[in-house]
Amino acid sequence: MTPDPVSSLAALEARLAQDLEYLGWPGRQWMPAQQRGADGEAVLDVVVIGGGQAGLAAWVGLAQQGIRAVVFDRAPAGNEGPWATTARMETLRSPKELTGPAMGLPALTFRAWFEARFGLEAWTAMDKIPRLQWMDYLVWYRRVMSVDVRNETAVTGIHPLPDATAVRLDLRTPEGPRSVLARRVVLATGRDGLGGPAIPAFVNTLPRGKWAHSSDEMDYGQLRGLSVGVVGAGSSAMDSAGTALEAGAHSVELLIRRPDLPRVNKGKGAGVPGLTQGHYDLPDELKWRIRHYINVANVPPPHGSTLRVSGHSNAFFNFGCPILSAAPEGDAMRVSTPKGDFVFDFLIVSTGFKVDWAHRPEFDGIASHVRTWKDRFVPAPGDEDQELADSPDLGPVFEFQQRVPGACPGLERIHCFCYPAALSHGTVSGDIPAISEGAKRLASGIASLFYREDFDYHYANLEAYSEPELFGDEWVPAPPPSERG
Ligand SMILES: Cc1cc2nc3c(=O)[nH]c(=O)nc-3n(C[C@H](O)[C@H](O)[C@H](O)COP(=O)(O)OP(=O)(O)OC[C@H]3O[C@@H](n4cnc5c(N)ncnc54)[C@H](O)[C@@H]3O)c2cc1C
Repeated sequence: MTPDPVSSLAALEARLAQDLEYLGWPGRQWMPAQQRGADGEAVLDVVVIGGGQAGLAAWVGLAQQGIRAVVFDRAPAGNEGPWATTARMETLRSPKELTGPAMGLPALTFRAWFEARFGLEAWTAMDKIPRLQWMDYLVWYRRVMSVDVRNETAVTGIHPLPDATAVRLDLRTPEGPRSVLARRVVLATGRDGLGGPAIPAFVNTLPRGKWAHSSDEMDYGQLRGLSVGVVGAGSSAMDSAGTALEAGAHSVELLIRRPDLPRVNKGKGAGVPGLTQGHYDLPDELKWRIRHYINVANVPPPHGSTLRVSGHSNAFFNFGCPILSAAPEGDAMRVSTPKGDFVFDFLIVSTGFKVDWAHRPEFDGIASHVRTWKDRFVPAPGDEDQELADSPDLGPVFEFQQRVPGACPGLERIHCFCYPAALSHGTVSGDIPAISEGAKRLASGIASLFYREDFDYHYANLEAYSEPELFGDEWVPAPPPSERG
């Protein structure tokens, strides 16, 4: 029987509120309020950039530690992350049972929310989580946890103060430009969090209106009746191909460099608690080895996404087809591969993301100072990996480190809690499976750093602390035994 969604959701929210009260939520605030300058400008404790699942979980983790944070997201409310905008899969890849950003709270899980809305029967019947339902869940999560997200607020500049005590952030808001100071900044900026789409050079010869990256916002209705090429065979390639076919494309040719599709998702196989907790402490060689192995093995597109494409008779899987060249030909384009030439009206490159600081002008003030793995580690011949080499070399609290010590004081106040943290910390900073583990590590680490920084303040508080637990009237000193009657 389908539950009454309104009363069931209300009951779930009451249960969650009680759980939070039992757990003493939110944590008691213990941080000193800080101001700077003659006009007493307030310094925020933490600013989180990005209100996707990582930013929400980070905010909740910090609140559990009694630390005030503000989240800024450039997207309108409900459009954070890829789910409702650029993602095109029908369902998530992740198993529905994963507890994701629930931070150890059963009543905050996707399952609790789903069952309250649609019932146990629907839960049992569901295979994978529909994409937009994940977004609906995140919207609910934000509301019930009262996460302080300021939408349509883009961070356009990040500048550690020369005295290394705080970071100034330039903002573009609906009310115009402004700036804020924060003691620490968390970059929860997503899968492309330190860059953007990886665009292959061969598209440079093509008119910009004739091609798109799979992560571009685009109306696929414009592909109706067109011959479409899709470069790549990952999950986004399959999603783009499936969406184009459903939009009425005349044909979709998948151009796949490899001779076959990978069958096994090694990243999923790697996800055991020991690695989640222990990746950071592994020696460099082992960190590189495991991430490189997973990169080389490549992640297969999901089963359902592949069937979504192959079910169309006008979809063609072309293997062994790296692009040799591409050139305009009349209103169309000729794309050459070792297997022959293809003529397309439109091309979609589904070639993933990369660290690319130039793509992110908001990082101009820090980019050249961030130490990356290529500054630290030389892989064995044959194990070179550009994605890994470009990854930031992070400290234990996801903090950036300076490439040249002293060249950018205060850089360590910026914590990289997005996908490129994976080589340093493992996959705890973006994907659903271990996002709560990452958020807890981040929040407890920040609490510890704050305490150390503010030691004198807390020590003075300790000295001034005078709340008695005994009042001296609970007992009477006994006379010596010889004087007792
Ligand atoms: C198409 C797609 C499908 C995926 N499917 C799965 C899946 O099934 N399972 C899984 O585990 N993972 C999946 N992932 C990987 C991962 O879970 C998602 O990328 C997820 O969105 C990561 O969450 P996040 O909070 O780190 O980043 P996002 O959800 O991308 O949120 C980042 C936010 O930061 C904001 N932002 C960025 N820069 C600024 C700025 N300068 N100022 C203000 N705001 C800014 C953006 O507006 C955005 O809302 C998928 C990824 C993609 C792209």
